[in-house]
Amino acid sequence: MCGIIGYVGNKDAVPIIVDGLKKLEYRGYDSAGIAVYKQNSFDVVKQKGRLAALEARLAERPLSGRMGIGHTRWATHGEPSDVNSHPHVGSKNKIAVVHNGIIENYKHLKERLEHWGIPFASQTDSEVIAQLAEHYYNGDLLDTVIHVSTVLEGSYALGVMCVDDPDILIAIKKDNPLIIGVSDHGNFIASDVPAVLKHTNKVYYLNDKEIAVLRNNSVEFFNIDKEPLEKPLETITWNLDSAEKGGYPHFMLKEIMEQPKILRETINSAVNNYKSVIDTLDVAKFNKIVITACGSAYNAGVVAKYVFERLCRFPSVETELASEFRYRDAVINEKTLVVLVSQSGETADTIAAMREAKSKGAVTLSIVNVVGSTIAKEADFCLLTAAGPEIAVATTKAFSAQLVLLYILAVWFAVKLGKITQKVEQELMSQIAALPEKAEDILKQIDSIQKYASTCVGYKSIFFIGRNIDYAIALEGSLKLKEISYIHSEAYAGGELKHGTISLVEEDTLVVAISNCATLYGKIMSNAEQVISRGAKVLLIGNCPAAKPDDKLFCIALPESSELFSPSLSVIVLQLFSYYVAANKGLDIDKPRNLAKSVTVE
Ligand code: GLU
Repeated sequence: MCGIIGYVGNKDAVPIIVDGLKKLEYRGYDSAGIAVYKQNSFDVVKQKGRLAALEARLAERPLSGRMGIGHTRWATHGEPSDVNSHPHVGSKNKIAVVHNGIIENYKHLKERLEHWGIPFASQTDSEVIAQLAEHYYNGDLLDTVIHVSTVLEGSYALGVMCVDDPDILIAIKKDNPLIIGVSDHGNFIASDVPAVLKHTNKVYYLNDKEIAVLRNNSVEFFNIDKEPLEKPLETITWNLDSAEKGGYPHFMLKEIMEQPKILRETINSAVNNYKSVIDTLDVAKFNKIVITACGSAYNAGVVAKYVFERLCRFPSVETELASEFRYRDAVINEKTLVVLVSQSGETADTIAAMREAKSKGAVTLSIVNVVGSTIAKEADFCLLTAAGPEIAVATTKAFSAQLVLLYILAVWFAVKLGKITQKVEQELMSQIAALPEKAEDILKQIDSIQKYASTCVGYKSIFFIGRNIDYAIALEGSLKLKEISYIHSEAYAGGELKHGTISLVEEDTLVVAISNCATLYGKIMSNAEQVISRGAKVLLIGNCPAAKPDDKLFCIALPESSELFSPSLSVIVLQLFSYYVAANKGLDIDKPRNLAKSVTVE
């Protein structure tokens, strides 16, 4: 996943790059490094560990320069170590490279280069890019980058500098994101907008196999045949505050607390901008909807399956992991609507699923948070969530925004299919419009959730159960907990416990039961009784006035709401519960171990 940033301009590149890396650290934090151009050579500092470790090194060994590249790594090839950190410089010390992605044919390329006597310093796939570039270098860095790109297989976003060119920084991408920022003091390359937002809100989005040549006062674009390209300069409308913690101890808590606002904005933007888009879609021609995504976005898709089925009575609604869908040779065609859900719009598996669906003639519709991202651009239809930048690795507000857009989509589809009347549509839309206020009410219970969570840090394992749509959101509760608290957890359909998992329940096991389906309240309470009678404790989350708390049963009440849209409320309690368990364990909540946001590798 990795974050890359580069700068060429009139100011010292080093503080600009370090600051940019801080905004990109959510993309990877195994190691970080920086290289600046310095009088026909490069000055490089690389350090295993968090960015803070690199900053400490830079304090001992300061760098400065007017052009440089930086990287924060999520290792795919080669352990996290100083030597495997980026930037990588070729053995002739001529070309320096930062890379986000995976070079799939690196072994073959490395063997060839080693056969020609070129020594390698690292175990990474990325080093072959620097070595190849030096090997092909003919005095023209643009030609060299084009040549290298014809040989590389896999995915890459690259920043490249050469010792012969004191003010040329070249960027190219394929299947991984890269933006180009322009400011009055210099120009930038970056994996994501927050890295440059302190300096500019004017950016270009690079498409696959487009090349940007940056100098301190110009940016030129070329295609892979070296023909000049005109690209639109976009203006970013959100500001840096959205990418700062704003007084909260963690981005995750800030983002949880922003959810009422995000829900409101996403609902308004959908009603104002997307109703007309959906009106152009011939929903009746589809005989199947496939929702495909990864991680939490997949869980949003599982919730949506229930909503689409209930409201649209569609013959077939499937939710499938994008990493499975892409290789399954699924039976889909022009009568299938494939819905892709991704916060970043750059999730490698979801991009591949989208391309697979398109190649089979399916219509694709994406729900994405990042404007200009690959999925936003390539899908036939795109609905943007108005979540703003999400920095914590564990998603909260983007997930909530995805859910609410999926509900609205289901309502509109139901109307188009004649399954609900306009009156029912209005009722459903007003239930959706009431969610932000209900979310505010839940956030008022933060103290009791925090207090309860602080008693749960000692658990080795926690189970989540629910039935129907409550089961769907239990999946997200369980994922959130394991992501940030490192406590093992599993989500089960309440009725399924007795078919195996109940054997794991013993004295003081914690089971989180979610109950918003009025007709199934009795059933889920029976499941709760079954585990309590085997020694477990139960945390009940839902609108269950009949529940009688005691020393085995703790209740967090949700406001009354339509069962179909209740996952948007349950999830806020689940997020806060996970957050406070992790906070009480003193963990690095925004950057959980081994994870990174924006999963741009397979
Ligand atoms: N493959 C490169 C490495 O392991 C970059 C990884 C990435 O972009 O996630 O260093």
